[in-house]
Formats: sequence, structure tokens, C-alpha cells
Amino acid sequence: MAKFAEPELPTFNEARCLVEKYAAKLSPTDPELLSILEAAGLALSEDLRADRDFPPFARSTRDGFAVRSSDLSILPMRLRCVGEIKAGATREQSAIMIQRGETVEIMTGAPVPQGADAVVTVEYTERSGDAVMVQRKVSPGENIVAMGSEARGGAIMVTRGTRVTHATVAIAASIGRPEVAAYKRPRVAILATGDEVIDINLAPGANEIRNSNSYSLAAQVSAAGGDAVILPVARDDAGELALLLRKGLEADLLLVTGGVSMGKYDLVEQALASFEARIFFTGVRIQPGKPVVFGEVTLGQKTTPFFGLPGNPVSTMVTFQLFAQPLLDALAGSTPQTLPFAQARLKSDLTTKTGLTRFLPARLGGPNSQPEVELVRWQGSGDLMAVSQSNCYIVVPPDRAKMAAGEAITILLH
Ligand code: AMP
Ligand code: MG
Repeated sequence: MAKFAEPELPTFNEARCLVEKYAAKLSPTDPELLSILEAAGLALSEDLRADRDFPPFARSTRDGFAVRSSDLSILPMRLRCVGEIKAGATREQSAIMIQRGETVEIMTGAPVPQGADAVVTVEYTERSGDAVMVQRKVSPGENIVAMGSEARGGAIMVTRGTRVTHATVAIAASIGRPEVAAYKRPRVAILATGDEVIDINLAPGANEIRNSNSYSLAAQVSAAGGDAVILPVARDDAGELALLLRKGLEADLLLVTGGVSMGKYDLVEQALASFEARIFFTGVRIQPGKPVVFGEVTLGQKTTPFFGLPGNPVSTMVTFQLFAQPLLDALAGSTPQTLPFAQARLKSDLTTKTGLTRFLPARLGGPNSQPEVELVRWQGSGDLMAVSQSNCYIVVPPDRAKMAAGEAITILLH
């Protein structure tokens, strides 16, 4: 194995660490005030604080009867019902003080009255007139969420740097914030290269292929809170490439696809060299995506990081997730995220070659209690159908040539 290792290229972990360190030094874009729905997917530039206690009153989580738990020493116990409290009851309607031997009928979401310390769910009670027979004991606090137990008034409920999700939107709504401050979307320029690559609106010649990479990348960028700017496809021509690269370097991040392998017309590295680019790596010991390039260019006052992503569509997608995403997170003001690795049981034996960390398109499925993961049949790094049928990658460490059915293995969700 050592014979085939390429010591000059970093391992997956080394390359990822390098990218994370670089990302830690980037500053996010400016913040702006956005409606909570517009802010979805962006990172908050402010902490969201509770405007009052959450919950604002001791809240019943069940329909049933509010009781003093110490009253239920013997079962069944007969209590006297002295009132009813609905969700939304006014302060006056809920201002009932229950005494020993008394109970109040209560609904889910209603404030628990003074004197009561638990709620017995309705299934364990039988009511006739004022008398309620309780069949079950409850411990103090049962079926009640205490006032302020989720958050005290003024406490931080969501920290700055959190991506706004549906849950964040719910919190903002709950604290009366129809607008929140979030970082602007960083601009990410996308430049596809290759003489065979044509715009998707054109009819392809026999040996031409449509530009899918610019669009898959734009979708990934947009999902990561970036603003994708798709540049025209660059021919394999040093002059044209240099012109479009200059345009792309005006963005906060530049993603180039294709032209980074070792082919005669793989001109991206040469063209970037003409900008005196600082190159941090020119490949990583992974598959797919081995020729991935990472560097930065300074033009005047502005330094722009860039990636040269391999042109094979699956390689482009994988290397975006593995390496470009942390930079995008940082530029978008998000707290650093780890990759979504998980463990799953392998469905069938798997054999591969050692030397590279592999990310193989796979499907996690099977019954909920027993999820299993299986490789998707694929024809290599150009096979778009394989990735579109997959929901994760099986991660094969560089020293493993075989993995056996039934083994717990690492997967990367995508
Ligand atoms: P390259 O990295 O330029 O050597 O390209 C590797 C493979 O990916 C070739 O088969 C290309 O035709 C294909 N490819 C390159 N760019 C794109 C693109 N923008 N969309 C789809 N396929 C591409
Ligand atoms: Mg090419």
C-alpha cells in the first residue's frame, strides 16, 4: 500500500483542518434586518432573547384535573371540582385557589391554578357533577411545565451565528420579532470550464455536454446561505479563462469547476498562477475529488479564496460539501459546522482499493429501528444518476479494502 501512497497530497483530515483554520479567519458579510421568513437559511447576527418567561405561566400539558399531589395518598380519591380553566383564560378566570380535597378541570395549554402542583390526565378520572374520582397518583410537577422553566425573561434563546431554521422562526415569532438581524448572503462566483461544456439553453453537438456543475453548485451554494453568481462557461483558453477568473475574483468566494486534473488543457492552475495565487493544496487523497485545488488571490485590497473543483459532476458535489462549505459558513456568519457523519449498518460486502478516503454514493434506508446502508450502483465520478438516487456517501477509510455486511460503518449525509 505504501508504495502507492502519494505523500505530497494531504489526507482528507489534513485538508479539512486546513480549510477550517482558513475559514476561522474570515469575517462575515454585513448584517441586515429581514423578515423571519426571508431570514430562513441565513445566520443570525444577533442573539434572540426571551421577552418574558417561557412559558409565561405554569402550563398544563394535558387535559385533565389540576390537583394537590399530596391529596392522592389513597386511591381512588374523591375530590370536589371547584371550577374550570381553559387555554386563554383571563387572569380573573384562572385566579382560583384550590384547597385540600379540591380540584379544577383544566385544558392543555391552560394556566395551572394556585395551590395545585400536578395535573391528572382525564383518562384516570371519572366525573359526576361536582365529584371527581381520581384513579391514579401523580408526583409533584407532573404534566405541568413550570413558569420560566424553558427560558427566563431576558435569557438568550438562540445565539448569534445560528442558521435560521423553522425552529428559530418559531422562537422569533414567540418573542414578538417579525424581523431579525441576519448576515447578508455572501456572493459566490461559479465558473465552469471546458471546450465540451455548453450552456443548458443550447442544443449540444455530438461530443458536447451541458453544464450541470454550475447549477448543482448554485443549488448547494444557495442551500448554504450564499448568493450564487453563475459566470459564462470558459473555453479551454488561457486568455478567456483569465478574463473570467478576474470577474469571479470580485465575489467573496470563487468556485471553478473542471480543468484541474493533469490533462493538457487543464489550464485553471496555470491561469491562477498568472494572478500570483497562493495555493494551499493541489489535491487531496480522496476519491472522488482527488484533484481539488484550494488557494487565494489578492487583487489590490481584496483577497478572495477560491476552489478549483474537479469537473466530474459527483466530484464537484462531494468536494463542495467537504471543503467549500466551511468557507461559505464562515462568510455567511454561521458558527462552524461539523460534517454530518453518522454510523449505519452495511447491507452488503464492499471491496475497494486502499490509499484514498472514499465517499461512495449510497442509500440509507430500511425499517426505522434497523437502518441499513447500501452502495448505489455507479459508473464512477461522472454518474449523476447514482448521486441523485443516493442520500449519503459511504466513507471508506484509506486503509480499508474490505467492509463486511453487518459492520457498523461511517456515512456522510448529503
Ligand atoms: P475536467 O475536470 O475538466 O477534466 O472534467 C472532468 C469531466 O467532467 C469531463 O468528463 C467533463 O466533460 C466533465 N465536466 C466538466 N465540467 C462540467 C460541467 N460544468 N458540467 C458537467 N460536466 C462537466
Ligand atoms: Mg476540462
